[in-house]
Amino acid sequence: PLVESIELYNGVKIPKLGLGLFLMKDEAELVNAVKYAVEVGYRHFDTAKIYGNEAYLARGLKEAGIKREDVFITSKVWNYDEGYEPTKAAFQESLNLLETDYLDLYLIHWATPKYVETWKAIVELYEEGKIKAIGVSNFQIHHLEELKNQGLMQPMINQIETHPELPQNELHEYMKENGIIHEAWGPLGQGKSELLNHPILTEIGKKYFKTPAQVIIRWHLDRGEVVIPKSTHENRILENSNVFDFSLTKEEIQQIDTLETGTRYGSDPDNQERIQ
Ligand code: NAD
Repeated sequence: PLVESIELYNGVKIPKLGLGLFLMKDEAELVNAVKYAVEVGYRHFDTAKIYGNEAYLARGLKEAGIKREDVFITSKVWNYDEGYEPTKAAFQESLNLLETDYLDLYLIHWATPKYVETWKAIVELYEEGKIKAIGVSNFQIHHLEELKNQGLMQPMINQIETHPELPQNELHEYMKENGIIHEAWGPLGQGKSELLNHPILTEIGKKYFKTPAQVIIRWHLDRGEVVIPKSTHENRILENSNVFDFSLTKEEIQQIDTLETGTRYGSDPDNQERIQ
C-alpha cells in the first residue's frame, strides 16, 4: 500500500509517504533505518546536501538490495550553493555522494536572494534528463509568483513546514490552483509540539485503532499532501507507514483544523537573516 503515489504535472509519480532523513547523522543508525524502511515498504527518501548523510543513504539502499529505479530519492541545494554555477556543482556532488546518475526530485532548500538563478540551473539539469522532477522548498506565494513572472518553468512541488498547528491554508490553495504538489516537512511538528498527545487526536485515533502520529499523517494524506515523517526507531518507522487502511471523515478533518495556531517549529521563509 505504501507505493500509493501522486502524479506530478509532468507525469512523474511520487510515493505519497517517504522517510525524512533530517538530523540523522549516525551512519549505522541511518543505514539501519533505511534498510528497515525498505523492508516495510517505503520507497521514497528525503535527504539534502546540508544533512551530510547522502552517502549513508546510498549505503543503506545498497544494503537493502533495492534497485535504483525502484526508489524515489529527493535531495536539495543548500543556501551557500545557490546561484547558477554553484548549483550545478552542488548537484553533481549530491549525485556522487548518492552514487547515482540521476535524482528523482531536486529542490531549492530555501529562497535566498539567488533563488531565480538557482532555479534556472535546476531547470537546465531537468531538461538534460538528470532530474526526473524539480521543485522548491520553503517558498512563499510571492517567490512562486516571481518564477512565474520571469516566464520560468513552474516547480512541480513545494516542500513546506506543515502540521495541524500550521496548515498553510493559503499556500495550499494557491498551489492547488497552480498544479504544484504540497509536500509537508515537519509533519509531526518535529516532535517538539504537544500535538502527539493532543486529546482530539487521541480520541479520533481510538475509533481507528491508530496513534495521534498516524492520525496526523492521515490528515496530511487526506489533504492531498506528500508526507515525509522522520524516525530512526523501527517501531515508529512501521507505525508511521500504517496509514493506508483508513481515512478521516470530513468532521474529523474539521476537528483537526481547529488545532491551527500558526506556530512554526522551523525558520520563517521570509526572515532572510535566519536562512543565509
Ligand atoms: P517530523 O515532524 O517528521 O518529526 C520527527 C520527530 O517526531 C522524530 O524525531 C520523533 O521525535 C517524533 N516522531 C516521529 N514519529 C513518531 C511517532 N510515530 N510517534 C511519536 N513521535 C514520533 O520532523 P522533521 O524530521 O523535521 O521533518 C520530516 C522531514 O522533512 C525531515 O526528516 C526532512 O527530510 C524534511 N525537512 C525539510 C526541511 C526543509 O527545509 N525542506 C526542514 C525540516 C525537515
